[in-house]
Amino acid sequence: MNILLLRLILTSTFAVTAACAAFAQGQPITIRAARVIDGTGKVLTNATVEIQGSKITKVDQRTGPVTYDLGNVTMMPGMIDVHVHIGYHFGKDGRAQNLGEAPAEVAFYAAENAWTTLANGFTTVQSVGAAADKELRDAIARGVLPGPRILTSLGSLNERTGGPKELRAYVRKQKADGADLIKIFASKSIREGGAKTMTDEQLQAACGEAKTQGLRTLVHAHAADAVLAAAKAGCTQIEHGAFVSDEGLTYMAEHGVYFDPNIGLVLQNYVENKVRYMGIGNYNEEGFAFMEKAVPTNFPMFKRGLAAKVKMPMGTDAVAGAHGQNAREIVVRVKDGGQNPMDAIVGATALAAESMGLGKTTGSLVPGLEADVIAVAGDPLQDITAVRRVTFVMKGGKVYKGPLPAASAAK
Ligand SMILES: [Zn+2]
Repeated sequence: MNILLLRLILTSTFAVTAACAAFAQGQPITIRAARVIDGTGKVLTNATVEIQGSKITKVDQRTGPVTYDLGNVTMMPGMIDVHVHIGYHFGKDGRAQNLGEAPAEVAFYAAENAWTTLANGFTTVQSVGAAADKELRDAIARGVLPGPRILTSLGSLNERTGGPKELRAYVRKQKADGADLIKIFASKSIREGGAKTMTDEQLQAACGEAKTQGLRTLVHAHAADAVLAAAKAGCTQIEHGAFVSDEGLTYMAEHGVYFDPNIGLVLQNYVENKVRYMGIGNYNEEGFAFMEKAVPTNFPMFKRGLAAKVKMPMGTDAVAGAHGQNAREIVVRVKDGGQNPMDAIVGATALAAESMGLGKTTGSLVPGLEADVIAVAGDPLQDITAVRRVTFVMKGGKVYKGPLPAASAAK
């Protein structure tokens, strides 16, 4: 049992409970900041967000006392990462394999990741995905364990799952088991060169059945032909795309296929933690050589995506070692990918929510949406690294991180 973690969770839970208790009488919570970025591209100065229960009720420039006067910070919608692996962690030996872990250990590691992610400003993540995500998703949704709202694919399919008939059956089974989306591997790993692995027929069956079942499809694809085939098969979103062609980018832009190139965190994290991964599966010298080569070539790929006007919601592919650092992706999109800061923030808020079908739930500071509200120190439009300095976190109207409320408000 990890006593420190348990203490962390219990302390956090207590703080949440205490914060909620202070506002149990139905009065609104109000939060003011020097700047408010609403997620859709607008900025307000000296603005206040009003919350009733779990929802945003108003965004205005009122004067007078508020529950939280956060001062010279920037308030934003809670950030969203559309591609994480919420349970991945380094084991007791510090390595990225978790041999012999008890189910309770696995669960607590995942809870650690969830809290770390939330505390760094991410109030919603999409995990793609492991079966154990389901219990974590549902536990967080019960409202006590602190963590981001989780959508999960619960697993993934690939070329070995079977022919069209088996693939369709797999999609239906995932839905019956409670998956929020379907994850598909249409190419090899970047560590094996990324070549196309699934046939067009297989992709059409998987993405076609998912659409029939009302589920979105996220497709891992590196090779240009794998990206294009997945996009043409009607899949919802392409992940990675290290070798995407201009034809693929144009097709995605013209057909509203989302593209999530992970350029800022996942490969860098592997390189930074090489000793923890080396020797496990395809994490060998050749695999690392592929990854190290892809870090700088991903930047011009992203720039081509911007030029083609593809919708690019922000995902990191956060694995062991990367949880909580998700916002590095936003920083790299701006500093190395040439995206303007406002667009990069929209990519991690309103556009990310839209890509997951949650545009009416979260991703913007707009009345009627869930009160997923964060604040960052400074102004991310002037210095994008501010998105890594999260000072306040509210999810669904509950404060998980931040100063105490004004004394007059906490009756
Ligand atoms: Zn992934």
